[in-house]
Amino acid sequence: MQRMSQLFTKTRREAPKDEQSRNAQLLIQAGFIHKEMAGVYTYLPLGFRVFKNIEEIIREEMNALGAEEVLLTTLQDPALWQKSGRWDDAVVDNWFKSKLTSGGEVGIANTHEEPLTALLTHFVSSYKDLPLYIYQFQTKFRNELRAKSGIMRTREFMMKDLYSFSRSEEEFKQFYEQCAEAYMKIFERMGLGALTYRTFAAGGSFTTGFTDEFQTLSASGEDTIYIDTEKKIAINKEIYTDETIAQLGLDKDTMTEKKSIEVGNIFPLGTKYAEAMGLRFRDEEGNEKPVIMGSYGIGLGRLMGAVVEVFADNRGIIWPASIAPYDAHVVVLDGKEEETAHIIQELERAGIEVLYDDREDKSAGEKFADADLIGIPWRIVVSKRTVEQNQVEVKERSGGKMQLLPLDNFQFSSLNFQ
Ligand code: ATP
Ligand code: MG
Repeated sequence: MQRMSQLFTKTRREAPKDEQSRNAQLLIQAGFIHKEMAGVYTYLPLGFRVFKNIEEIIREEMNALGAEEVLLTTLQDPALWQKSGRWDDAVVDNWFKSKLTSGGEVGIANTHEEPLTALLTHFVSSYKDLPLYIYQFQTKFRNELRAKSGIMRTREFMMKDLYSFSRSEEEFKQFYEQCAEAYMKIFERMGLGALTYRTFAAGGSFTTGFTDEFQTLSASGEDTIYIDTEKKIAINKEIYTDETIAQLGLDKDTMTEKKSIEVGNIFPLGTKYAEAMGLRFRDEEGNEKPVIMGSYGIGLGRLMGAVVEVFADNRGIIWPASIAPYDAHVVVLDGKEEETAHIIQELERAGIEVLYDDREDKSAGEKFADADLIGIPWRIVVSKRTVEQNQVEVKERSGGKMQLLPLDNFQFSSLNFQ
């Protein structure tokens, strides 16, 4: 149980004036994040709990694919990036770089194809060493020109990046599809399933022609896509040509234009990085071949921001239960601490995580407004009135549905918890 009186963060009466995006306004007002400077945000205790819940959902789905978790370095060796041609600022235009006191330069993690591919040359030589699926949660630094979408586009952000290393196109393609399914599962678990479209986008290796983005419909999104709701498929505006539409067997008449947020993407990389870094293996016949790769990214902050954008109402944030910072927001009024302690004990016995508004200097109205702003799925109120009736009041944040449960013999499980 977390007492609100003990949280070092506070909610604010007003949204910050210097934020244009709804996600940053609400997350700052409710005390989830702090703006360090433009495009750079700190995750405060409540925000960090949401963040870790998102991370855990992603980790579970990546582990289910048989992927192995690592932590690669933030400081990057320019020599590796020169091999692939991506050290040049004209090629990657948003590098942060720094000088070493001892001479020379280092890069500050932008993405990790080069170092991971180079690393694997130490471990992979035979077909028996493959396939490999390796991922991490690592902070990326990008000198984005504009940082205007709150935590959805920042200059420092946590990415889950996975890289696949396969022996053949078929082996690659099979994993690519499995990973696409795992991505949809992740977004479904976060309540974004119905709103998230697998979207054809430009780029990709010469064999496949496309990359796949996962786009969540939202008016606040920076991207424009065309969706076919029936087939649950979309095309990014960047490649929305008659030729592409025909090639994908889609029909312009059934597609509608929407704004969306790119919450994740997956790329076929072909043999580009394997060739550049010399990542080769001997097949069963003894022939040497380059490894076929793919990369698979999800931005955790972007995803969290998207959830806020999509579900918030005019009173505040609404977290899906799967990533909410706490399960229940218990509000005590009229000095009914003793009765509340009993309720909290019962909740914790049932494995329900509790944020406890025990603040003595706040009115009922202020406490209710904060509960709505913070957006925890269930609000439980113990007051003079409820105690007199031997009840507690339980309110669902999303639908606003109210239920009364008995104070004695209180059982949270008697609620419909879905
Ligand atoms: P975008 O087109 O939005 O700049 P990208 O094509 O650069 O994204 P990738 O480099 O493939 O994206 O990164 C993978 C994922 O990381 C993206 O799908 C997104 O969720 C997240 N991401 C990318 N850039 C940012 C950023 N500046 N801030 C927060 N998340 C980001
Ligand atoms: Mg980008």
